[in-house]
Amino acid sequence: MPITTKHEDVRELVDGLNFAQKVDRSLELIREAWAEYGDGLVVANSLGKDSCVVWHLAKRVSPKIRGFAITTRFKPKKTVEFMNQEVARSPELRVFKNDEEIPDKLYASDPDRCCDLLKVQPTRWAVEEMSVTCWVTGLRCTEGRTRTDFQEVEERDQGLLKLNPILIWYEREVWQYVALYDVPVNPLYAEGYRSLGCAPCTQISTGPDERAGRWLGTSKCGGECGIHTRALKPDHQLNYQI
Ligand code: SF4
Repeated sequence: MPITTKHEDVRELVDGLNFAQKVDRSLELIREAWAEYGDGLVVANSLGKDSCVVWHLAKRVSPKIRGFAITTRFKPKKTVEFMNQEVARSPELRVFKNDEEIPDKLYASDPDRCCDLLKVQPTRWAVEEMSVTCWVTGLRCTEGRTRTDFQEVEERDQGLLKLNPILIWYEREVWQYVALYDVPVNPLYAEGYRSLGCAPCTQISTGPDERAGRWLGTSKCGGECGIHTRALKPDHQLNYQI
C-alpha cells in the first residue's frame, strides 16, 4: 500500500500497540517513506527528546538520511551546546536560523509573529534549500490539547508529505526508547523540563499536559510555534488552520 494512503484510527493504535510494536511500526513507516522519497526525505530535528528518537530511528533505516534543525537567538545555552554536539556527531544535520532584526521582546508582545519569523520562516527555507518532498517530525498525539488531530501521514502542502512516525507513542515510551538505545538528549530534561523551546517561552511544568510549560501566561499557552499548523509552501496551501 503506498504510504500516502495510510490512515488508521490513531487513538486505537495509541492504546492497542505495545512499545515494541510501536517501534516496529515507526521503523516501517520511515522505511517505506525512504523507499518512496529517497533523498527527498528529511528529518525535522527540533532537538527535543521526540526528535532525538525519530533521528535515531531514521538512522537505523539509513545512515544517509539527512536532517535540519531550526534554532533561534533565544534558545537556551544548553540547547545550543547540545545542538552543536548533535551536528558534530551528524554533519548531515543542517542548521537554519533567521537573524533578521525584529522588535525588542516580540515574544512577549506578539509570540505568534515571533515564532512565525524565527521558527516557521527558517523551516520554509530548509524545505526549499534541501529540496524536501517528505519531512519527518517527532510530533505525538498524546503531547497535549493541540496535537490530538494529526495523522501519521499527512499532505497539508501539495507536494510535501509529512510523516509523523512516533505519533502514537506515549511520553513514557519515548523515555523508554531513549534509555534502551542510549540516545543522547538535551541536559535540560534533567532539570525537570518536559517540553523544550526558546528560553523566554519555556518553563518547567507539572501535571498531565506535557506542553503546559510552553508560552505559559500567554494566550499561546501549551500551543504551537506554527511549523505544524502553517503552510510551509504558501503558494500550495491545502489544509492549514491559519
Ligand atoms: S518560542 Fe518564544 S522566543 Fe522562540 S520564536 Fe516563539 S515566541 Fe519567539
